Amino acid sequence: MIISDNHLAKVKKQYLKKKRKIDKNIRRYIMAYVIKDTCIACGACEPECPVNAITEGDIFVIDAEKCIDCGACESVCPVGAPEAK
Ligand code: SF4
Ligand code: SF4
Repeated sequence: MIISDNHLAKVKKQYLKKKRKIDKNIRRYIMAYVIKDTCIACGACEPECPVNAITEGDIFVIDAEKCIDCGACESVCPVGAPEAK
C-alpha cells in the first residue's frame, strides 16, 4: 500500500489534534491545582503564579487549563487552600 504525502499530512494533523485534546484533559483533570473554599481571599497566591492562572472571584480561583502544577500558590497560602487534584 502506498500512502500519499497528502494522506500522511492529514493523518498527522488528526493525530496532533487528538493529542492536544488529551493533553488538555490531563491538565484539566489530573494535574491542575484547585483552591478550596477555605480561601480567605488574601491575594498572596495570585502574583506568585508564573502563568497567571489565578484570578479573583468570590474566592480566588485557578484556571485548570493554564495551571502547570508548579505548587507556588500552595507554598505561599496562609491557610493551605490551594490543593493538587
Ligand atoms: S500550581 Fe503553579 S501554575 Fe498552578 S495555579 Fe498554582 S502557582 Fe499557578
Ligand atoms: S493565598 Fe490562599 S487564602 Fe490567599 S487568595 Fe490565595 S488561596 Fe486564597
